[in-house]
Order: sequence, then C-alpha cells, then structure tokens
Amino acid sequence: MEKVTKKVLAFDIDQTLNVAKTPIPDEIADLLIGCLDHFEICPISGQKFDQFLIQIVNRLIDRGATTAQLQHLHLFVAQGTQYYRYEGTDWQQVYNYPLTDDEVQKITSAIESAARELGYWEEDKLQQGDEIIENRLSQVTFSALGQKAKTEDKYAWDPDCKKREKIVEKAKEQAPEFDYEIGGTTSINAFTPGMNKKFGMTHLLEELKVKKEDILYFGDMTQPGGNDYPVKEMGIDTITVRSHEDTAYALRGILGII
Ligand SMILES: [Mg+2]
Repeated sequence: MEKVTKKVLAFDIDQTLNVAKTPIPDEIADLLIGCLDHFEICPISGQKFDQFLIQIVNRLIDRGATTAQLQHLHLFVAQGTQYYRYEGTDWQQVYNYPLTDDEVQKITSAIESAARELGYWEEDKLQQGDEIIENRLSQVTFSALGQKAKTEDKYAWDPDCKKREKIVEKAKEQAPEFDYEIGGTTSINAFTPGMNKKFGMTHLLEELKVKKEDILYFGDMTQPGGNDYPVKEMGIDTITVRSHEDTAYALRGILGII
C-alpha cells in the first residue's frame, strides 16, 4: 500500500468530527490521539475558542491525550482568523485578525435597524442576560432569539430562511461592504469579504511552514458554495465526508498504513 506522505491532517468540525455543536465521540477522540503521534492536527471552523475546548480539546484530554501529543494540535478558530497553539502548559494565541470596532459598529447597526424595521427585533423574547447580536471578534452574529432560546423555538422562528433573507437584504443596503451568511436556525453571520477558510488555510501554511501538498483536509461541505469549498479550491487534497463516521473510516485506514 502507498505510504502516507502528508504532514498535516486538517478538519472541519461540525458534521466532520462530530454531530453539529456536540463534543466529538470517543472513537473520533481516540483516532485523533493516534494521529497526533504522526501528523500535525488542525481543526478549522467558524466557532469560537471555547467551543474548540469543549468539543475537541477537553475530549482528547478525557481520552488520555498527553501534553506531548497536544503540542501537535493547532486550533484555527473563527475560520482561522485566530490561531492557538499549546505551549508548555496552556493554549497561547499566536495571532488574531479581529474586525475593527468601526466594522463591528457598522454591521451591528445595519442588522439591528433592518430587523427593527421588519418587525423581527424580538428583544422581549430574550432570556435574562442573553443578547441578539454578539461580537465574535472576526464576525458579528445575529441570533434572532439569542443564544439561550429553546431549540424548538429556534426551529420554529424561520424554517424557510425568509425572515433572515429579508434582514440580509436590508442590512446590505446600509452596509454593502460586508458578506452576510445565513446559518444555524436563527442566525446571520456578517464579516469582511474573504474571511473564509481560505484565509485560515493560507495562514496555516505559513505558521506550520508546510506546502499545500503536505495537507489532507476533511470536510462535509466541499461543494461550490459550501464552507469547505474554499479549501478545495486552493488545490489542497480534500476528502469529502457525510458525517464523522466517514471520517473515522478514513482515519482508521490512514493509521493502519503508517
Ligand atoms: Mg461542517
């Protein structure tokens, strides 16, 4: 069988390593720990740092990952606009490309006024301490019912995305210089154009001092328009998976021939 010559295994998170928004299953954790002995491991996703800890890092530690192994884990947070590396005893932020205060302000004001005009600004439905618009540093996220709303309420709010499409259309009139992406059940993400996974992977190449050919990337949305597509488009070898089960299958194969 052919020898594996890749140096880096990079992964989308949701639907590639886990069931969306949940910690990775034991099997994936064990396989990733096995891979840390042979490769640099790089999860890259739009999520925030604390979710990387909850969904991946804490699970690897629970399953017995050693400090030496964690040195080979590289966290490309918020589409790789932030990079964290394990140094000594803790996670260190290596770089961060946040939106400027002015950009955050422009996006926030455009989305809020659009939602208010359309009658979709539903502050009264928020739980205490929750907020509709959250500054996620490299993107601003609108969540119509806040972060803490019940799942069934979220599903019921905009099942056909029509409300959010209208908000985006109106917000774009006021702040056309940003990209808007409808996600989850009640969310809109807004960010500077080009802050997608290509941005993160380009920085990964620099930080890890590797070439495109050294990387194998796993993702579930590799079709044009999908959030993993920019990686494929760069010419990085990509494995398209339907779920973490496909990823587990591939990783078992890779570990079997090292
Ligand atoms: Mg995904």
